[in-house]
Amino acid sequence: MASEVMESTLIVTGFVVAGDNHRLRLLTCAHGLDHLFKRSHPISFSTANKLIATTVCCDHLEHQYRQGGLIGERPYSNASIIAIDCAHDLMLVDVVIDNLRDMHGAICHNSHRSVRLAREVMGDKISKCLLLSWPPQKHRKRTEGHTSTMRRVTEISEPNLNEYNMDLVEVNMGVESGSSGGPLFNGAGEVLGLLHAGGIFDDTDSSYFVRVHHLHNFVAPYV
Ligand SMILES: [Zn+2]
Repeated sequence: MASEVMESTLIVTGFVVAGDNHRLRLLTCAHGLDHLFKRSHPISFSTANKLIATTVCCDHLEHQYRQGGLIGERPYSNASIIAIDCAHDLMLVDVVIDNLRDMHGAICHNSHRSVRLAREVMGDKISKCLLLSWPPQKHRKRTEGHTSTMRRVTEISEPNLNEYNMDLVEVNMGVESGSSGGPLFNGAGEVLGLLHAGGIFDDTDSSYFVRVHHLHNFVAPYV
């Protein structure tokens, strides 16, 4: 009997929500694994760790790699998934800081500060916002837009095969796939949401962010 092993790489953006001198906790989206779960059949973090290898590159090491002329392998470090929220498309990744090493083996001693999550913003308030993300080869990408209507995920995802059950902020902003998981900031530098999807139904000028109250609920036991 023949068997085929599929290997693929999916790149997403993550951001620090907690940490100390030894480890960091990165928040990102779960939909890179969404062929493996739906809300009524969630995947555990331990199963996910058996099925996929998670690696991260911090912003500083990427900057250093670019300053060095993009020579050699990008300095990825091993990390592990510690929680998955299959209902709200969220995933938490644990990184040991001693594992964040450049291509010469030197540990990154720069500050890896946690973001501040905004208090919930209610209503359909239009306000300026900024997505900071890292699609492939586009380090520190900044995209500006305006928050618009609040949506239920069922309004933008039909059929909702993963049975996601969350509130979203609609933003008039075009996005790329590697930006998934990226933080949406308000004018005060606080996170309003996390990128779930963009370009739905050929509407390439709108994107949808998991609202911040879901982020608060998910990370609370880990921060
Ligand atoms: Zn770093």
